[in-house]
Amino acid sequence: MKKHYLPLILSFALFTEANAQKIVQRDPAIEQLVAEVNADSLQSHIKKLVSFDTRHTMSTTTEEKRGIGAARRWVLSRFQEYAKQSGGRMTAMIDSWVLKPDGKRVDKDQDMGNVMGILKGTDPNDDRIFIVSGHIDSRVTNVMNREATAPGANDDGSGTATVIELARVMAKAQFPATVIFLVVSGEEQGLLGADYLAQKAVNEKWNIEAIMNNDIVGSNNSNETRIIDNTRVRIFSEGLPAFELDKKATGIRNMGQENDGKARQLARYAKEIGERYVDNLEVVMVYRNDRFLRGGDHTPFVNRGFAAVRVTEMNENFDHQHQDLRTEKGTQYGDLPEFMDFEYLRKNTAMNLATLANLAKAPTTPQNVTIDTKSLTNSTTLFWQAPKSGKVKGYYVLVRETYQPFWQKKIFTTKNGINIPYSKDHYFFAVQAVGEDGNESLPILPKVGM
Ligand SMILES: [Zn+2]
Repeated sequence: MKKHYLPLILSFALFTEANAQKIVQRDPAIEQLVAEVNADSLQSHIKKLVSFDTRHTMSTTTEEKRGIGAARRWVLSRFQEYAKQSGGRMTAMIDSWVLKPDGKRVDKDQDMGNVMGILKGTDPNDDRIFIVSGHIDSRVTNVMNREATAPGANDDGSGTATVIELARVMAKAQFPATVIFLVVSGEEQGLLGADYLAQKAVNEKWNIEAIMNNDIVGSNNSNETRIIDNTRVRIFSEGLPAFELDKKATGIRNMGQENDGKARQLARYAKEIGERYVDNLEVVMVYRNDRFLRGGDHTPFVNRGFAAVRVTEMNENFDHQHQDLRTEKGTQYGDLPEFMDFEYLRKNTAMNLATLANLAKAPTTPQNVTIDTKSLTNSTTLFWQAPKSGKVKGYYVLVRETYQPFWQKKIFTTKNGINIPYSKDHYFFAVQAVGEDGNESLPILPKVGM
């Protein structure tokens, strides 16, 4: 423990009041992986992506050095290279299909492909999948312009580089659950690649527990307010669930759980774990699914009932998004690498890595988490059963007042139940399974029972 003493204090100083009681205890194996995320490596991924001139979804797929096809094949080659380190557990592929004209942003048949690196879990009884994603396609001012140079360094070279870097660092590590490194196409033409995969995941009953979608995560300044800040990153998460809200609304209303959907829990988890491992980075929760006037690849997953969130830089510079390369009144427009901050991108990538590694290493979630509501009490009794797979050291019981944004207490127990002097009437509770190295699962809110 001694050698982690200093980072522990530094991280502690960054905590907001709501988090002030939490103790930072890092898993040395994850700490090591986080340390391997490299700003120069991220920069070189982005330079390569920009070198394909355009990665517009409707651009050439047959040229060797230009267009989205060449870019996809290069990402595939990266995944294949990293897979050599995985002892045969990682495979790489381009999941291909043909797009048909849709009367909107697709005007001809087009070859499509999502590039995937699949790092298979080591536990055959663990069918969980955790996904990190970015989109490879780029655009300029006119979304149909497939010929102009569209560097897409930040949108979304940054998210794509995040995914590539995670594959590079994580390929050699072992996790009981499966991690998928996902680089989709067709985001700017209507979230087409994410929609394709989300539907496939439903059809094939994939057990996806979390999707971290990274879109525009590598620049530290805003255009008009001139704020420069590389210490904060935003995570957008939906409040009320888009999926089957009508079925769930009564339960949500009765329990007051409008701030406790799956995506929100994942966002809170990423905040806690990201800040646990990455110094000088605050994960800022945004209590909405996405920004104004924009969409993102998490949404096709959210719409189908998966826990998916969007990671985006704190301050966006719209001079460098969706812009034709040009200079106007002394301002250079366009999404070029020189407007990025690779140290900031490193921290955001590290936050993703810590979150995914902690999830994939944790046991599965505790089962049948129940709150005893058979009588009027000023205390609370919860009970649960062991997770389906994974070795369990114990459980964290999470507690917060109903009006608080984050969990306030995290009580460790080795038992399968607890009675605590906090009234079920004005606190929320959840339970996480904790693995032998201290990695916690996603929290499960209790069902009402006897
Ligand atoms: Zn984007």
